[in-house]
Amino acid sequence: MSTLRSQLEKNGYIIIENIEDADIVIVNTCAVTSFTETKTRKLLLGISSSAPAARILVTGCLAQQKPEELKELPNVQWIVGNLFKNDIVDIINKENGVFHSSLDNVSSESLSLDNVTVVPLENDADGFSRTRFPVKIQEGCNFRCSYCIVPSLRGASRSASGDSIVAVCKKAIDAGYKELVLTGTHIGQFGDSNTESLLDLLNKMVVLDGDFRIRLTSLDPRDINDELLQIIGGHPKICDHLHVSLQSLSGPVLKGMHRPYVNLETLIQKIINFRNTFPYAGLGTDLIVGFPGEKDDHFNETLENVKRIQFSYAHIFRYSIRPQTIAATLPEQVPEIEKTRRSDILRAVIDDSRKKFLQNSKGILKRIIVESENPLRGLTSNYIHVEVQNTECRRNTWLNISVISDNPGRYCLAQPVV
Ligand code: SF4
Repeated sequence: MSTLRSQLEKNGYIIIENIEDADIVIVNTCAVTSFTETKTRKLLLGISSSAPAARILVTGCLAQQKPEELKELPNVQWIVGNLFKNDIVDIINKENGVFHSSLDNVSSESLSLDNVTVVPLENDADGFSRTRFPVKIQEGCNFRCSYCIVPSLRGASRSASGDSIVAVCKKAIDAGYKELVLTGTHIGQFGDSNTESLLDLLNKMVVLDGDFRIRLTSLDPRDINDELLQIIGGHPKICDHLHVSLQSLSGPVLKGMHRPYVNLETLIQKIINFRNTFPYAGLGTDLIVGFPGEKDDHFNETLENVKRIQFSYAHIFRYSIRPQTIAATLPEQVPEIEKTRRSDILRAVIDDSRKKFLQNSKGILKRIIVESENPLRGLTSNYIHVEVQNTECRRNTWLNISVISDNPGRYCLAQPVV
């Protein structure tokens, strides 16, 4: 979205913070679960009521998947599928329309960062990129998990070149950004077409001059290896934060999901070793409960393995049918009430391990980049959102802190460390 932002600004559009005052609102959508779809519809309805004069452009995966349905929502004037995202400025100069491609016509173009411009920090009204600069290193996915519509919507994996990523990162660091976030559909598949690996890219980035840190977004368990885990946990310029999207820790369920591992126990041991070697590192995951055919035994297997690993947080999803996926046609769909029961049990286990993680983290020196001044808040390298009391500090500056509470709410209390 930072590319779109700069394209809009170059063409004379002004980005404003208050949605009520907007003439045009652009919404980038996701279609990964039915929950995100419901949220998106609510969001679009909310925009049309709080900004009744604004015309809405909807893009992203849901626009790609359900263009005609979205077009019926109030004030939605444009639907722009993923293939046409780079044409958004041209499109909003037209009156209205639906610009999408069919599911068998997704992009296979290589990913170029040529249009990425680095918005100066002081002009940036976008909450996310104020202190963190997202760099899209990869797009699409070569896997075919049975519940996932994403490869149909975004196509096969394509990567930007390592040199172009490094060049953009250098500009972002020079502009004052202190955290670079590597994003993509499946960043572990970075480099598939140009023989560079994610590890190669990280090694190129960490030698750049400047006081910055690199954060990786979600990694697929099939993409992690010992060297990658070592650099994530141990390199001072890389956030000690591993998010590994496991989805389940039961062999039969993973088989049904088309996410086979050669040896599940080896994977679990690898993650436990990471936890033991880097006890203060953030360790998160995504888990789906109630996948078709998930029996009590399977769920309990996942639960026990989750307890063994001791995550610092997890995103827990109740399985929802995504049309046009294999899993949608599977028998033995799990009743909603059972999905809720299982997610509650899993959440309680995660809350417990999060509390232990925060207790362990108490008194450990960490650095935050100040994201807001009043209240003073920021994020540690190991993914703890903190609020620091009785301290003043400018936004986008470093602050040494230590966590003083183990309250597993949104923000943990911290104190400055001089
Ligand atoms: S690896 Fe991720 S993006 Fe790819 S198919 Fe599986 S869930 Fe979807």
